[in-house]
Amino acid sequence: MTAVSETVVLDEEPPHQSSSEEPPPSRGTRRAALWAGVSDAQWEDWRWQLSHRLNGLDELGKIINLTPEEVEGCRSHHFRVDITPYFASLIDPDDPYCPIRRQVIPTSKELVAFDGMYADSLNEDGHSPVPGLVHRYPDRVLMLVTTQCASYCRYCTRSRLVGDASAQFRRADYEAQIDYIARTPQIRDVLLSGGDPFVLPQRILEELLGRLRAIEHVEIIRIGTRVPVFLPQRITPDLVDMLRRFHPLWVNVHFNHAREITPEVSTALARLADAGIPLGSQTVLLAGINDSTEVIRELMHKLVRERVRPYYLYQCDLVEGAGHFRTTVSKGIEIIEGLRGHTSGYAIPTFVVDAPGGGGKIPVMPQYVISQAPGKVVLRNFEGFITTYEEPNDYSGHTVARPERASDRSVTGQEGVAGLLSGLADTIKPQGFDQVHQRLGAAVWEPLEQRAPVENEPSSSGN
Ligand SMILES: *Cc1c(COP(=O)(O)O)cnc(C)c1O
Repeated sequence: MTAVSETVVLDEEPPHQSSSEEPPPSRGTRRAALWAGVSDAQWEDWRWQLSHRLNGLDELGKIINLTPEEVEGCRSHHFRVDITPYFASLIDPDDPYCPIRRQVIPTSKELVAFDGMYADSLNEDGHSPVPGLVHRYPDRVLMLVTTQCASYCRYCTRSRLVGDASAQFRRADYEAQIDYIARTPQIRDVLLSGGDPFVLPQRILEELLGRLRAIEHVEIIRIGTRVPVFLPQRITPDLVDMLRRFHPLWVNVHFNHAREITPEVSTALARLADAGIPLGSQTVLLAGINDSTEVIRELMHKLVRERVRPYYLYQCDLVEGAGHFRTTVSKGIEIIEGLRGHTSGYAIPTFVVDAPGGGGKIPVMPQYVISQAPGKVVLRNFEGFITTYEEPNDYSGHTVARPERASDRSVTGQEGVAGLLSGLADTIKPQGFDQVHQRLGAAVWEPLEQRAPVENEPSSSGN
């Protein structure tokens, strides 16, 4: 690739031209030469970072030697570009394959359509009882509180709405979301996302957290964010003091590469962890960015050192703009194979495919059960050692009250395969199954026990 713009030196110590009472440059201050003259106080001010984001060809060309594909991408991209000076400074200006760069600099490839592409691949809109509230699982909801982020990931799963300054959530939307949660007692877990909840004005976020905390059946609140990576300066002691008032509060941070973990990010994570907030991570498996066992392992090891517990590794969604970032599913399985057993269990995320069409996250992993017979399970470990687990022959199961069939109030209709095991149902049928198979008035299939009570029969075991 040919260099088309002036050279920028990373890691250059900024010339010291600020006033003498300024503190010395903080550790880890690292910025592209374009901002060498910016005072440390400004650089460390998240408001300055947000208002100096880069979004155009001219600006980006000043700090990066853009490739023709990137130039094209900057001219006609598929959704908003905006990059904090802090994050832009982590980009290697001369390496088109820089993993930081590929996440945020658009290329012409994002305009390429692919088979199976959707605007809303997870069908979130189809699972939203009120705008911005996705209720997919029985006991938890995803609450979208803003469409804005500190910077924009090119593979964003919500690019259909994220970054659109004209499509903001308003007070009336929040009221409708909170009202739905308040009158749906099965919801015990609310996950705030967006956009990024940490770019909301602090008093709005505080108010939302307070409103949710006031709902008795909401047990935990989670925040999904990438602000600690794009804008670590935002994680101020003041923000953290506010957050800690709403425990139990969990925070999940989106990380894709070990190079994202800078001294500034460490400080931000330490503030959150020191406030008692359990930290998790989510990572998207991205071609050319982190699709290797070594890259993921290095990231996971760095995360656990920062007290972040790796949570999910996602297969890239079938979303517009993300075609060139997709890997095969087998790449994720290969990565998990390379982690499980080889490193701490704490450093291993669950690899998931978020089901196209809206089925939720489906875990995918290597096969460890090699064979089975009554009384025996044959298993293999990470080294290929094969062993036999001898099962008890007198196990009868822990006796729990099993829910009445449809009449039980805790039955949500989402018992799924667990419901087959507990006896709540015997089958799960695809839509239209009965109509297709009961043609010509064929007999209805049902267990004998439901037809007529049998006298003097010993009760069946295991209920
Ligand atoms: C990911 C997600 C959740 C949370 O899922 P967990 O597996 O509990 O982390 C909840 N709702 C929606 C719509 C989601 O996409």
